Amino acid sequence: MRPELSTLIRLQGIDLEIRKLGLEKADLPERLDALKELMDEKNEEIAQLKDKLADLRTRKTEVEDELELETERLKKSQQKMSSVKNSREYQALSKEIEEIKKSNKAREEEILQLEEDIEGLKKTVKEKTKEVEKLKKEAAAEERRIAKAEKEIDSKIASLTSERDEVAKEVKPDLMARYKFLSEKRAGIVVAAVDEGICSVCNMNIPPQMYNELLRDEKLLFCPSCQRIIYALKV
Ligand SMILES: [Zn+2]
Repeated sequence: MRPELSTLIRLQGIDLEIRKLGLEKADLPERLDALKELMDEKNEEIAQLKDKLADLRTRKTEVEDELELETERLKKSQQKMSSVKNSREYQALSKEIEEIKKSNKAREEEILQLEEDIEGLKKTVKEKTKEVEKLKKEAAAEERRIAKAEKEIDSKIASLTSERDEVAKEVKPDLMARYKFLSEKRAGIVVAAVDEGICSVCNMNIPPQMYNELLRDEKLLFCPSCQRIIYALKV
């Protein structure tokens, strides 16, 4: 194999490794992002529950105030009972007293129900808050893991990059320009082996005359289909 070709293969190997590490680094925050999304959802749920809780508390205060006022009214009506003058008045007043009692009973029941609902909601808010706390801890641990992994990847990339720069010095500028161009167009795979007349990357046939030339290994040749730099695979 021509020496410039084996240099390019080395360069490609390092570049592919750098590229792979870059992708790994980009994928690192995936789980953290999912955790953050889940936390946002739960916080939104908690905010809604708290709104509902505030509504229930407002309603409870309203009913309690009504109950207080109506209890006063009931007392007054009951006091009036001692001074009724006729049965018509007596009946009207008894009816009023019964109605107040009935409404107040409904108010007391509503207050009990509201208290029960408030307690239930408070419990749910507490549970969800605990879940968020747990997620926060998980996210913090994940952040630490990511920072550590990023540091490792960065140091690997740094050492590969300096190795790459050394190897790149051995490549002539015009070939390097071609390598860079193809590397960008062909996802980093620039050099392709040709096995029995077929380009191993694009799977197209190399014309027989070119293949013979390739076997003689006298100059650099390019795949007519994918334009990659080719070399004959020796069995
Ligand atoms: Zn090809």
